[in-house]
Amino acid sequence: MTPNQKNSTVNNSRKRVSRAPKLENGFASQDILSVSQFSRENLEHIFAVAQDMRAIVKSAGSTDLLRGFVLACLFYEPSTRTSSSFIAAMTRLGGTVIPITQGVQFSSVSKGESLPDTIRTLESYADVIVIRHPEMGSAQMAADYARKPIINGGDGIGEHPTQALLDMFTIQEELGQIDGLNVGMVGDLRYGRTVHSLARLLCLYDVRFNFVSPEILRLPLDVMNEIRDHGLPVTETYDVADIISDVDVLYVTRVQKERFADLGQYEEVKDQYVITPELMEHAKKKMVVMHPLPRVGEISYHVDDDPRAAYFRQMENGMYTRMALLAAVLGKV
Ligand code: ASP
Repeated sequence: MTPNQKNSTVNNSRKRVSRAPKLENGFASQDILSVSQFSRENLEHIFAVAQDMRAIVKSAGSTDLLRGFVLACLFYEPSTRTSSSFIAAMTRLGGTVIPITQGVQFSSVSKGESLPDTIRTLESYADVIVIRHPEMGSAQMAADYARKPIINGGDGIGEHPTQALLDMFTIQEELGQIDGLNVGMVGDLRYGRTVHSLARLLCLYDVRFNFVSPEILRLPLDVMNEIRDHGLPVTETYDVADIISDVDVLYVTRVQKERFADLGQYEEVKDQYVITPELMEHAKKKMVVMHPLPRVGEISYHVDDDPRAAYFRQMENGMYTRMALLAAVLGKV
């Protein structure tokens, strides 16, 4: 099915304004707000440093590269991997962390303190701030008020640039290249910010896109238009079976329950896609299944032992990638 064949009752347009500059002079002292800041050279730099970080962790566990530096983690939304991998990354680099994560309800945020005031406070103690917030554009807003670098750890249905970095690193490590790949993305393409960031970052490469979602969860128009502007081939379908044998990367996502105004609609679509061993029999021998996690049923546990299941390696890569990013933003690599 082509997009034109679908009846488009869903308004997928969103306002997206990123004022974050391209990282032409590298990462040092820069905000990391959107994947639109990155070039291929920026990515290659992060990949190379992430490989070094992995070697350091495997051989020595830690280094003192960022000794004396402080990271503030400000999470207004739940997080397991992003927050803990940033904390582990900073700790393994010899720095320290102010974790306002699970404790945000005990901070002055719960007293109604504004985001700008919270940011001004944290930047007087820390050298870099990671923020996750339910509103799109919140990381940009934090950056507008901050003198210290802000890293976007997920802004509502907007972007998740550090997840996209680790996703790209994983594809590169698993398949040895990104150019020439056929990438399938499955599930909640509308609200899944990791999909938005990854799809936009993949536009720097020569890839083909295959999107699989229910009608109401199709990819937002702004992301689709960006892909089209790059002249990259796109297909859309409702059925994973249509693409499973063609893709090199199958990027599976959770239906984002917390973004639905109407929970009845969520119930209708939540169990639509499940990747099973039976489905995997039709996939290429050399391909990878990825997921930003958490999964809530989209990938059967029976797939976990398949060597093509890369989601746990992907999660581990998050720490190496975030180590590389922190060291780069703090001007050390
Ligand atoms: N952990 C990812 C995110 O924060 C994916 C998800 O929550 O489904 O966007």
